[in-house]
Amino acid sequence: MAVVRFAPSPTGLLHVGNIRAALFNWLFARRHGGKFILRLDDTDRARSKAEFEAAIECDLGWLGLGWDTKERQSDRLAHYDRARDALIASGRLYPCYETPEELEFKRRRLLAQGRPPVYDRAALRLDEAARRALEAEGRKPHWRFRLEATEVRWDDLVRGRQHVDEASQSDPVLVRADGSYLYSFTSVVDDIAFAITHVIRGEDHVTNTGAQIQMFEALGGPLPTFAHLPLLVDAAGGGLSKRMGSLSIADLRERGVEPLAISALLARLGTADPVEPVTSLEPLIASVDFARVGRAAARFSEEELAHLSARTLHAMPYATVRDRLPSDVTEPLWLAVRGNLSTLDDIALWKQVVSGPIAPVVEDGPFLAEAADKLPAEPWDDTTWKQWTSGLGRKGRALFHPLRLALTAQETGPEMAKLLPLIGRARAAARLRGQPA
Ligand code: GLU
Repeated sequence: MAVVRFAPSPTGLLHVGNIRAALFNWLFARRHGGKFILRLDDTDRARSKAEFEAAIECDLGWLGLGWDTKERQSDRLAHYDRARDALIASGRLYPCYETPEELEFKRRRLLAQGRPPVYDRAALRLDEAARRALEAEGRKPHWRFRLEATEVRWDDLVRGRQHVDEASQSDPVLVRADGSYLYSFTSVVDDIAFAITHVIRGEDHVTNTGAQIQMFEALGGPLPTFAHLPLLVDAAGGGLSKRMGSLSIADLRERGVEPLAISALLARLGTADPVEPVTSLEPLIASVDFARVGRAAARFSEEELAHLSARTLHAMPYATVRDRLPSDVTEPLWLAVRGNLSTLDDIALWKQVVSGPIAPVVEDGPFLAEAADKLPAEPWDDTTWKQWTSGLGRKGRALFHPLRLALTAQETGPEMAKLLPLIGRARAAARLRGQPA
């Protein structure tokens, strides 16, 4: 069974970049009848906030990306302690005593010599007495993972064959001097504990993957399959990170963007499949396939999202949207006007147009009065408009424009044949005579 996790750090709001990872995890789990875990990577106590955790849950819920179970890394510290001790016992985790200034000095010296700034493992050569002497000075160790100098390979579901030469990497710090853990370590411990089968995340984690694979092996865990999604870029090809503030899910929700449009765009962007509106997440589940995700950065455009959001409304069945509409918006009204909505809030205008009162715009009084006299008797249906207007002795714009302005007070809008029966005879007659109704 596929078991996947979305692992945000609750240190900020979710934006389109990280929700893309959430979406692919969720779609993959649903497609393969698997399990989707929400894991909050909250080991950074200073920056993790309950309000961000709540916001993450709210955003996922709004998008319809429900999770099967939720885990918090801060609840699992005992597991990390045990894994740390196992790595110390097997000689893969070693204490280091350099201060940040000392490390920075070493780094600059290597760079000045034109060499890669790889940690020199000086701490690995300290003997027991030297370590004790440093600790007597009041230094507290941070702990590094001793990498094997091998080339780590994996088959990435998106990127194909990958290899990282660990001989050219610094041994990563897994435990800080204050005893707190770094994400790259706790993530591996949890991926093993929860038997994660597929790690689906952004390609900013590719460089971590080599060291993480060695950690999986050192901890005796089975290796998951990796899928690293390309980053999102803006139309000019630049990174989105600076604008992520305005691309938070909360912000898009505030602006009336449809949740299904966000998912439809993010699931298909940069893939071989067309971006098109959907009426549920089902077609996205059915088509999720890493083999169809391109390796190039995917271009994200807010205009495309807004456009897709409108098209999502235009195709939306009444049953899907009913709970979000004012109770007096009936199915015929919805079907008549949905094609003219940019955001759902626009429904208020058309509700007002059919139920009134509106102040009609009178362009040609005598013509309108005559048209009012010729209004057929009710009951009215979709054929009434044609039947009525074909007897008014005008054609084209000269016929339709004054009628639309008087009946709706709008220059453009939904098909009048659909609106007229919803407006009703009494209201239509009053408006044609220039009376607010
Ligand atoms: N907390 C990590 C992040 O938000 C998770 C990365 C991963 O999925 O392994 O980037």
